[in-house]
Amino acid sequence: MNTPDNQKRIDDLEIANLELASMNAELKASEQKYRRLFESMMDAYVSVDMAGHILETNHSYQTMLGYSEAELKSLTYSDLTPGKWHAAESGIVKEQVIPLGYSFAYEKEYKRKDGTLFPIELRTFLLRDDAGQPSGMWAIIRDITERKRTEAVLHEAEWKFQALFTKGPIGVAYHEMIYDEAGKPVDYRFLDANECYLELTGVDPRGKTVRQAFPGIENDPFDWIGTFGSVARTGKQVRIEQYFKTNNRWYDLVAYQYKPDHFVAAFQEITARKQAEAERAKLAEQLTQAQKMESVGRLAGGVAHDFNNMLGVILGHVEMAMEQVKKSDPLYSDLTEIQKAAQRSADLTRQLLAFGRKQFIMPEVLDLNETVAGMLKMLRRLIGENINLVWQPGATLWPVKMDPSQIDQILINLCVNARDAIAGIGSVTIETENKLFTEAECAHNTVDIPGEYVLLSVSDSGCGMEKEMLPLLFEPFFTTKGVGKGTGLGLSTVYGIVKQNNGFITVYSEPGHGTTFKIYLPRHAGRREPAVAPNPELPAQRGSETILLVEDEPTMMTMTTVMLEKQGYTVLPAITPGIAIRLAHEHADTIALMITDVIMPEMNGRDLARTLRTLYPTLKCLFMSAYTANVIAIQGILDPGAQFIQKPFSRNEFTAKVREVLDSK
Ligand code: ADP
Ligand code: MG
Repeated sequence: MNTPDNQKRIDDLEIANLELASMNAELKASEQKYRRLFESMMDAYVSVDMAGHILETNHSYQTMLGYSEAELKSLTYSDLTPGKWHAAESGIVKEQVIPLGYSFAYEKEYKRKDGTLFPIELRTFLLRDDAGQPSGMWAIIRDITERKRTEAVLHEAEWKFQALFTKGPIGVAYHEMIYDEAGKPVDYRFLDANECYLELTGVDPRGKTVRQAFPGIENDPFDWIGTFGSVARTGKQVRIEQYFKTNNRWYDLVAYQYKPDHFVAAFQEITARKQAEAERAKLAEQLTQAQKMESVGRLAGGVAHDFNNMLGVILGHVEMAMEQVKKSDPLYSDLTEIQKAAQRSADLTRQLLAFGRKQFIMPEVLDLNETVAGMLKMLRRLIGENINLVWQPGATLWPVKMDPSQIDQILINLCVNARDAIAGIGSVTIETENKLFTEAECAHNTVDIPGEYVLLSVSDSGCGMEKEMLPLLFEPFFTTKGVGKGTGLGLSTVYGIVKQNNGFITVYSEPGHGTTFKIYLPRHAGRREPAVAPNPELPAQRGSETILLVEDEPTMMTMTTVMLEKQGYTVLPAITPGIAIRLAHEHADTIALMITDVIMPEMNGRDLARTLRTLYPTLKCLFMSAYTANVIAIQGILDPGAQFIQKPFSRNEFTAKVREVLDSK
């Protein structure tokens, strides 16, 4: 029986049995493996029949829902799902699970044993019986409470950030730095920028590099690319207030790295604040300067006032003495020298007075072109033959209102300085021009008040000045010239005159490139009055009228009295206004003229004249120079039309003026 054939069959069978056994063992091992996996897996597992009765669950599933395995077996799937999800889930079973054999991942909620709800994500698969008919479903379920919470937090943060970024009042931009091969930052790209950024800069830079968005940035005095390059690379934050020349604005900005080689910049525009600060600094500076000038001016003016009176006396007596000696007499030439020196001293005190702004000024409406043209001959002589004087008058110049002698003083002082600055050959250029300054220009320039100005500029091709010197120039007594050569009063006088006329002065200079002074005088709004021709030098005039002379300075009184009496007049001297009023009453009908000083202790000349005119409405008055110590009270200006003579005066000047007033209607 044990044929070889049979034997082979038995062998085959045994082999088959052995294989079966080993397959069974494998199957068992595999099942165990899956069971362990199934039990220990983090994700929950459930299987149900087609009616939804729960068949099988794993440990995670039980913990997730708070039921035991046994409890779950008595429940249906819909017991665990809140009603609002039922319809949606049946739809998924019908549309995905049955036709496809599985569903895509979807989200819904589960209800725990204690009634609380929680979010889950799951996928459902179809089970088929041997005939291939749907017999049940199983699902892998994950509790997504934590994920939902994180998502909500992230969303919240994102919304908050977005709201701040898009609508916030601070310009914000994100950038990626661009480096060259050597690692040097050469540009950066704007990845994003918010609305405020676009508003503040007027530029939409998104997607562009900074060189594209702000052409010329590499020439800005501040190294933007270099500074941000190091922020993006080193992570070192910068906070700066910086002027951006490319669009003329100031920014307060902070820049920091938010990931390597990237940076974010947040900024506010502070142009208005910066302007206000600069304005305040300028004003403070001007105030200090004005106060300094004021006190030095008061000192200088006070000294000059007394000094000037003395010079008047010296000049008067010299003149009278000169009449008593022949021109051939050696004494005559001595007296001439004394006269010249006294005259020069008078010019100097006049400068001091102008500087102290205590000089009487007689403003007139002027065409600067005419005034300057009238000075040219004198200025040419002043600066000498080696220096070429160029005159470039501006066309249809606006009028200004000021004392022409002040223009003379300005031009002389500036031209003398120019001459001193030129070694050898050179040129001085005087120009005039109309100038309009807008508010904006005032903010950025040295210009104080916007408006219409007439510019008078004096430039030279001289040695120029170091920058450090410029702030000192207008200081009284600032000079670089040797003892006896400079007084340091030239420019401070110019400054004083310009300020007195509500103008301003600027200076531009560089060593070796000459100097330009620009003086801006306010345009005079009214029409130009016809210019009055100055009196030519006249011989001493005589007369026999009675003159009431009011002067509180005794030496001045004596000299003036002598001058008048010599010419035949009768003088009623009054050393106070009180005496003058008494004398006026006593000599009611004989007084033809009152000559009075302007500033006197009891009453000023103008008020004295007004008082006497209530008695004698036709009384003629001549006011004498009177360099006032009280410039505010009379504003340095007499009543319009008042007759006036400036101290010190020569006898001829004086007697001619007296005659002129006596003969006037
Ligand atoms: P002073 O001429 O008596 O020295 P100023 O007030 O006129 O006084 O001038 C002050 C100083 O300013 C001068 O000593 C000189 O150093 C400088 N300065 C003025 N004008 C010029 C100029 N045009 N070029 C160069 N330096 C000048
Ligand atoms: Mg000078």
